[in-house]
Amino acid sequence: MDTYDAQQVEAKWQRVWDDAGAAHVGEPDPTKQKSYVVAMWPYPSGTLHMGHVLVYTVGDVLTRFRKRQGMEVLHPIGFDSFGLPAENAAIKEGLPPRESTERNIKTITDSMRRMGWAFDWSRLISAHEPTYYVWNQWLFLKLYEAGLAYRKGAPVKWCPQDQVVLANEQVHDGRCEYCGTEVIAKNLEQWFFRTTAYAQELIDELDGLHWAERIKTMQRNWIGRSEGAEIQFRIEELERDVAVFTTRPDTLYGATFFVLAPEHSLVEELAGRSPNSEELRAYVGRAAVKRGEERAAAEEKTGVFTGFFATNPVNEARIPIWVADYVLMDYGTGAIMAVPAHDERDREFAETFDLPIVTVIDDNDKLVDSAQFTGLPADEGKRAIVAWLGERGRGRETISYRLRDWSFSRQRYWGSPIPIVYCETCGVVPVPYDDLPVLLPDIDDYRPRGVAPLESVESFINTECPQCGGPARREGETMDTFVDSSWYFLRYTDPHNTEAPFRKELADFWNPVDQYIGGVDHTTMHMIYARFFMKALNDLGLIGFREPFAAFFTNGWVNLGGTKMSKSKGNVIGPEQMLDAYGADVTRLNILHLGPATEDMEWTDEGAEGMVRFARRLYRLVSEVAASSSSESDGPPVNELSRKAHQTIARVSDDLGRRQSFHTAISAVIELLNELSRSGTDDPAARFAAETAVSLIQPYAPHLAEELWQALGHRKLWESAWPAADQSQLVEDTFELVVQVNGKVRDRFTMPASASEEQLVAQAQSSPKVQAHVDAAEIRKTIVVPGRLVNFVVG
Ligand SMILES: [Zn+2]
Ligand SMILES: [Zn+2]
Repeated sequence: MDTYDAQQVEAKWQRVWDDAGAAHVGEPDPTKQKSYVVAMWPYPSGTLHMGHVLVYTVGDVLTRFRKRQGMEVLHPIGFDSFGLPAENAAIKEGLPPRESTERNIKTITDSMRRMGWAFDWSRLISAHEPTYYVWNQWLFLKLYEAGLAYRKGAPVKWCPQDQVVLANEQVHDGRCEYCGTEVIAKNLEQWFFRTTAYAQELIDELDGLHWAERIKTMQRNWIGRSEGAEIQFRIEELERDVAVFTTRPDTLYGATFFVLAPEHSLVEELAGRSPNSEELRAYVGRAAVKRGEERAAAEEKTGVFTGFFATNPVNEARIPIWVADYVLMDYGTGAIMAVPAHDERDREFAETFDLPIVTVIDDNDKLVDSAQFTGLPADEGKRAIVAWLGERGRGRETISYRLRDWSFSRQRYWGSPIPIVYCETCGVVPVPYDDLPVLLPDIDDYRPRGVAPLESVESFINTECPQCGGPARREGETMDTFVDSSWYFLRYTDPHNTEAPFRKELADFWNPVDQYIGGVDHTTMHMIYARFFMKALNDLGLIGFREPFAAFFTNGWVNLGGTKMSKSKGNVIGPEQMLDAYGADVTRLNILHLGPATEDMEWTDEGAEGMVRFARRLYRLVSEVAASSSSESDGPPVNELSRKAHQTIARVSDDLGRRQSFHTAISAVIELLNELSRSGTDDPAARFAAETAVSLIQPYAPHLAEELWQALGHRKLWESAWPAADQSQLVEDTFELVVQVNGKVRDRFTMPASASEEQLVAQAQSSPKVQAHVDAAEIRKTIVVPGRLVNFVVG
C-alpha cells in the first residue's frame, strides 16, 4: 500500500463483490426487518448524467447503511425502455429503437457497474422485453375485465411534432413535455384507465405517507378536489336541462349569464339552430387549437352569444348562453353559471361584453338580494340554497375533481401492444390470456405519422377473432410508458416468473417500497398512476396493500453554470469523465458533498478535488495507523479522540437514518480525520478512530473503505455490523481549567470533569508559565473552584 490508486482498488473490489454475490438477494429471510430501496428506473435514452449519479448514489448509500444495520435490503434496477424518450432518441439517431435502446442499456449498465452501485443485477428488468410487457398486457386485461380500462371518443391533447396524444400530465404550459411544441386539441377514440374511481382515496391516503409536505400538496392540487353543487339550468327552447358545477351556490341569485366550453356537447346542437351559427362554429374551431392553460389565463376574454337563454332555477331569470373558451371541459361539467360580481374571470368577461353585474354577497359575507335567503351568512346560504334546490330536483351537493381518467393509448410504435382485437361481428374482443404476449414486431418505418405505425403493418394488424374465428384487426396503438412504470417495483420482487407477473407473497413481503428515490418531476404523473395501479390491483386481489411508496426521497437537480444539466441544453457532465479522472468513490463522495441532496446543487470540479484530497488523506492516515500500532490488546481507551469517534458514529448514524442528510455525514467523518491527524497515530485511540472513519465512510466510498478495512486486519466490511456509539462517551465531560496567579490568568488546561482537587492543583503547578511567577515567592494560599479554576496567592 504505497499510494492510493483508485482505479486499481475499485476494479479489485468490484471483482470480489461480484464473486461473493454481495448484492444478491435470494428468498427473503422473514426473521429480518426488510427494507426495499428503489431509485426510479432510468429511460435508456442516452448515457448517464450527474443527476442519475445523485439518485443512484443516494439509493446505494441507504442500501449499504441498512444492510449493515442488519436489515434484509432489496435494491434492484431496471430500464424504462419503452415509450417516447427511448423512441425519440432512436429517431434522432436514425436507428431502430430496439438497437439504440439495447446499446444504451449496455452503456448505462457498464457505467452503473463502474460506479459500484450495489444493485442486485440478477433482477434486472427492461420494459421493452416481451418477458416484461407480456405482464403489462396481462394486467391490462385484468383491469379491462374489472371495468377499470375502457375505450371512448374524447378530445385529446395532440402534439403535432411528435404526432402523438399526450396525457394532461405530459403537457406543461400548453407545450409537449418531450419536444416543447404547442399542443393542440383533437377528437380521437382512446383507451383510458379509470383513475377517477380512486380520486378521493388518492387524496386521503397521502396522510399516512412519509413524503415531504410539498410533494403531497402537489398531488392534492393535481387531483384538485372541490366541494360544491351541481345545479340544473333549463333551456326552454330545447326542452332540456344542462348541469353546472359551482363551488359557490350561495351566489346563485347573482348569475347574469351562462357559459359553455367550446367542446361542450350542447354547442353543436345550439349552433345548428342559432342565428349566429357561422360565427359560433368559427369560434369553436379557433378555440380547439388553443392551449387549455392559455385559454383559462387569457387576459382578453373572447366569446360568442348563442342566441339561447338558460333559466335560473331559483328565480326563473332567463340569462343569455354564451360560448367562451375561458371555460374548460376539463373541470366540472364544462358549463358554468357566471357570477361577475363574485368571480374575477366572470367579471372580466361581463365588462368586455357589457353584461350585468349583480352583487349578492355583502362585505360581511352575508347574502343580499337573494329572496328568502337574504341575510344568511354565505356558508349557511350555500347549504340552504342547495337544500331548496334538492327538494325541487334542481340541484344537489357534489364533489368535483380536476383529476381525469388516464388516457394511456399512444399512436406510436415503441410501446407495449394493447391486447385487443376488433371484429366486425363481435366488436371489441380482448386477446385470450393464453395468446399473450402480443409481440411488438420489428418494422422498418416506425416513425410517428398521426396514426399508429402498426396500423399499416398488415402481418401484425390482420388477425382472427378469438371469439368467432372471423377476420379481425388488432389494436394498433401501444401503451404509454407510464403503464410500464406503474408496477415495475412489483416485478423486481419476482423477475423471472413465467406464470404470473409476480407471486403475491413476494410482492407483499417487499412492498410497499420503504424508500423510493427520484425527481420531483415524477410526482404528479408516474407517482399518481402507480398509486392508482396498486389500489386497482389490491381490489383485484392480486396484492395485499394499497400504497406503493411508504417514503419518498426527492432529489434536487444537478446544475452546471446555473442551469439544470440536460442533453437539450448541452451542459451535461457524464460520470464516465469523472470515473476516468477520479474513480467511483470520489465521484460518489463529491455528488453527495456538494450540498443537501434534496436541493438543487451546482456541480464544480473544485468539489471533486476536495474529495480527492480527503480520500488520499484517509488512505495515508489509516495506512500509518495500520503500520504503527500492533493491535488493540486492551480495548479502545477513553480519551478525546475516542470520544470524537463515538460522537461521529452517533452523528453519521443519525444523518443516514432519521435525517437523511448525506452531505453532513461526510463532513463529520472529515472532522474525525482532522482530530486523528492532530492526535497523531501513536494516540492510544488512533486505531479505533481510524477503524471508525473507514467504517462510517463505507456507504459512500465502499471500495476505498474495503481496501483500508483489510489493511487494518479485518475482512468483509460490506457485511460487518454498523458501529454503535458508546452513549457514555458522547457527553462532553471535560472542562477548561483556568490557572491564575494573584488573580491573573497565566495558563489554561482541558481537564476531565471527574478530576479531584488535588489533580487540579498538581496540573496547575506543573505549568511552566505558572512556575515562572510562583518560584521566587511563597504560595500563601491556594484557592480551588471545582470545575473552573485554581488561583495561587503569592508574595
Ligand atoms: Zn412533442
Ligand atoms: Zn368475432
